Amino acid sequence: MQFIDLQAQQARIRERIDRRIASVLDHGIYIMGPEVAELERALAAFCGAKYCITCANGTDALQLALMALGVGTNDAVFVPSFTFAASAEVVPVVGAVPVFVDIELESYNMSPASLARAVDLARAQGLRPAAVMPVDLFGRPADYASLQKVASANDMSVIADSAQGWGATHKCQMTGTFGDITTTSFFPAKPLGCYGDGGALFTDNPEIATVLDSLRVHGKGTEKYDNVRIGVNSRLDTIQAAVLLEKLEIFADEIEARNMIARRYHDAIGNEFVKPTLPAETRSTWAQYTLRAESGTHRATTMERLKSDNIPVGIYYPKPLHQQNAYSGFPTDPDGLANSEIASSTVLSLPMSAYLEEADQDVVIASLRATRR
Ligand SMILES: *Cc1c(COP(=O)(O)O)cnc(C)c1O
Repeated sequence: MQFIDLQAQQARIRERIDRRIASVLDHGIYIMGPEVAELERALAAFCGAKYCITCANGTDALQLALMALGVGTNDAVFVPSFTFAASAEVVPVVGAVPVFVDIELESYNMSPASLARAVDLARAQGLRPAAVMPVDLFGRPADYASLQKVASANDMSVIADSAQGWGATHKCQMTGTFGDITTTSFFPAKPLGCYGDGGALFTDNPEIATVLDSLRVHGKGTEKYDNVRIGVNSRLDTIQAAVLLEKLEIFADEIEARNMIARRYHDAIGNEFVKPTLPAETRSTWAQYTLRAESGTHRATTMERLKSDNIPVGIYYPKPLHQQNAYSGFPTDPDGLANSEIASSTVLSLPMSAYLEEADQDVVIASLRATRR
């Protein structure tokens, strides 16, 4: 059993991917070939955003978003502590200060109340609240309606980090259309992944789209050797775009399959674990199916049992960012980040992919049932 089964997906579309890659080899335009623009149109259409700009990876996408919004020195950018390091690392890279915000335990996503406290603290420290970067953790859209209120009240931009949640929906609206800019990652293990590194940004704002298009190619102007701003080199390879075009064709179907597996897990796993739930009219991409054990000890015994049954499990994330050496010096919600700490010490993620067979799901379920506290 695989934690995320990429081989089964490849077997399903191998011929089509081979053909797509062969056609890139035939035309030979490896950088910014026609597949890149074709993919950007397809991705924008899929989620309903006006513009899509692809780039080299999901971390660059976050950095490009901050650069496009002019975030820099003396600016505070609010990020959750319970997330992957990329969420925070791009902030000091552009010269701004990450301020860590707590999560809500039922969603694992940024808490609007904690955000409000963190904004007040940042202002008291002489920083300008510039942007908030909520994460759609494990595939569930963040509470954008509430976060947007805090952002608007403080004149901040919203950059939605949907590396795990692109393709999820809330009230008929798909991720990619929340906030001023949405970013995603095509790292192979993400719900929509390529065969290397890749990323993308989405926006409805034509000026932001133009600036992003320039920033990813060295700050180009009307042509390549005309540089109008300081940019970076962050393009999506044509071959990766070709792979993604074929993967996008089956993505909706895969989200459906993941949701069925999540439902099956939910119905069969006992209440000694806190199972993930979704608000009404919300659909997750289930980047991870994450349980919370009653304690660190309960998690340890559960993981031991799963491992002895040869079931791959993961902990996302074992240490909140505000406790990591690289980030412990940055400001946090003055009331503390208790939920981030609880989550880090008790969560565990089960095997999940569109191709996880029912027999394997049953093995996971049986192993969890057999675990005694
Ligand atoms: C994976 C991930 C990223 C970074 O994506 P890369 O393509 O690996 O750079 C950023 N944020 C979150 C929440 C992620 O899960």
